Amino acid sequence: ARRKLIAGNWKMNGLKADGLALASDLAGRLNGAGEVSFDLLVCPPFPLLFPVGDAIAGSALALGGQDCAAKNSGAHTGDVAPTMLVDAGCRYVILGHSERRADHGESDALIAAKAAAAHAQGLIAIVCVGETEAQRDAGQADAVVSGQLAGSIPAGATAANTVIAYEPVWAIGTGKTATPDDVAAMHAHIRAELDGKIADPAKAKILYGGSVKPGNAVELMAVENVDGALVGGAALKADDFWAIATSC
Ligand code: 13P
Repeated sequence: ARRKLIAGNWKMNGLKADGLALASDLAGRLNGAGEVSFDLLVCPPFPLLFPVGDAIAGSALALGGQDCAAKNSGAHTGDVAPTMLVDAGCRYVILGHSERRADHGESDALIAAKAAAAHAQGLIAIVCVGETEAQRDAGQADAVVSGQLAGSIPAGATAANTVIAYEPVWAIGTGKTATPDDVAAMHAHIRAELDGKIADPAKAKILYGGSVKPGNAVELMAVENVDGALVGGAALKADDFWAIATSC
């Protein structure tokens, strides 16, 4: 069985005091919980990676970035290298989130290059895919996701270094979630598409994201081929995020 991964994407939220309080709270709950059936990950904004990383060092709470560059150094103003994420204590990096695809024009090819650079530093890349509402309404959801997978997963991807996150764009921050049947269909589609793109595809984790809350987590996490969640808004409250994690 694939171990569940519950990932919190804080997006552009929280100052140092907020982030430290949230991460320390979660690390404390995790350390006090004994054996759990999930891995727990927080992905704070870049300025918080070092303080949060230091605060949770030695705990079971994992740290990730929300993006990284495809290079490790050089004249790239404003970019953050995979080596810098590792330096801060990150084990994961989210790549190709729909907000970066939309706001920063990130292409599949760029995301694949970033993922390859992340892999080269030993980071686990969480590669995000998902269709817009118009694409779903036009019956193109499967084809859109297939194209994103084909373009965004780099050579050398394995079930150990790559996690896929399916986040339908229309479900992000909207309170709308895909139905369990739609999620099951898309996750099965993604699993089939991973064949030939990721070594050991049956072991690869596929997360669902988009308005995951304590009230729908039990139902969503029980869907076949759902191996965890990528959580936005509800990851900013320790009680909600913990409730989602413990519903696996
Ligand atoms: P929400 O959980 O706020 O809908 O965000 C989902 C998301 O985009 C996580 O990456």
